[in-house]
Amino acid sequence: MKILVINSGSSSIKYQLIEMPSEAVIAKGLIERIGSKEAKISYQKSDFKTHKVLEIRDHQTGLMQINQLLMDDEIGVITNKDDIEVVGHRVVHGGKSFSETAVVTPQVKEAIKNLSALAPLHNPHNLKGIEVAEKVFTKAQQVAVFDTAFFQSLPQKAYQYAIPKHLMEEQDIRAYGFHGTSHKYVSEKAKTHLKSQNQSASKLITIHLGNGCSMTALKDGLAIDHSLGFGPANGLIMGTRAGDIDQSVIFYLINQLGYSPDEVNELLLKESGMLGLTGHNDMRDIQKKAEEGDKNCQIALDMNAYRIKKYIGAYAAALNGLDAIVFTAGIGENSALLRDIVCKDMDVLGLELDTDKNAKRTNHVNEVSSAHSKAKILVIPTNEELEIAKQAFEIASR
Ligand code: ADP
Repeated sequence: MKILVINSGSSSIKYQLIEMPSEAVIAKGLIERIGSKEAKISYQKSDFKTHKVLEIRDHQTGLMQINQLLMDDEIGVITNKDDIEVVGHRVVHGGKSFSETAVVTPQVKEAIKNLSALAPLHNPHNLKGIEVAEKVFTKAQQVAVFDTAFFQSLPQKAYQYAIPKHLMEEQDIRAYGFHGTSHKYVSEKAKTHLKSQNQSASKLITIHLGNGCSMTALKDGLAIDHSLGFGPANGLIMGTRAGDIDQSVIFYLINQLGYSPDEVNELLLKESGMLGLTGHNDMRDIQKKAEEGDKNCQIALDMNAYRIKKYIGAYAAALNGLDAIVFTAGIGENSALLRDIVCKDMDVLGLELDTDKNAKRTNHVNEVSSAHSKAKILVIPTNEELEIAKQAFEIASR
């Protein structure tokens, strides 16, 4: 079964055509700057790569361009667009209604639309992706895979905020969680790996460090706590987001320094985090500068690692033990330095890194803990598109 996975953003569409159940990636690519005269579409099948720059007015034109490339006589991979039986869509917010992947119906679309208030930067664009895919791939089944669904297992004590409870009951103000497809994917990989070695995989912590960053505590495969909450702002220090911060700072900025609420929101989401601390948000630049002696970059790395360390401690307490921690996503998979700082002096939790193993980059499950480490330290490349394809395949095969 050929499944087209689509991640539709405000001016971009990421796509992958995946054969299931073999999990082979047939073709993939990205459209950027939709709405401009100089939009860019890239396309890759096995070792062959190409891109073109052209006007792409809207998402529908973009998806039609993708379809043209997939069906191209020379470089295409399908002969008929109906070969695509399922289109799997990433949808960021499924609120409390969606605990599972859903086949798209008018009711599902209405619910995604209504949840836009909770995820204004994502849900409207995800919905747009669904609507245009329905027009372009008329025969395909459309499936919505929600980032939040994986966190439906959080217990109330973890998702409720200590504010008047009618705000949760009547206004749905509570923690939902994000990056669910990534946490699910790597936790399942970790479980398979640990089981193959007759190790327990009951108490896991997954650490997703990309531009956005989050951590999940998992007991027996189910999420029991998570660092992101109502929006994508809580928890770890991210590329441009502050993560945990005393709310008094917000009111000081507004009441004493004259910031508007929108300006504070912009400050905390787009101008803070590693960018606010160092002037850079790309971890590669920050690491390089830190090595060259830049003090701001050194302290920013220490702060970043310290925040992760504190969450590991908190989650190990919540789990009453620890079998493994898993690093994933751009920084988690590539930054040996950050993993090293995080795992230093963690023997209290049975964590000990093997420096040589940690320095190596692999494309599969990489165990980087030492032979003495009681809990394992794993580096696992995430693959959110494949996870979406797996879930879409499962529901389409029922
Ligand atoms: P997104 O959340 O956009 O999917 P990614 O998972 O691709 O993000 O992660 C992006 C981050 O990964 C960037 O901060 C980038 O600097 C970092 N990164 C990528 N490669 C490396 C590397 N070799 N060393 C350190 N950081 C890296």
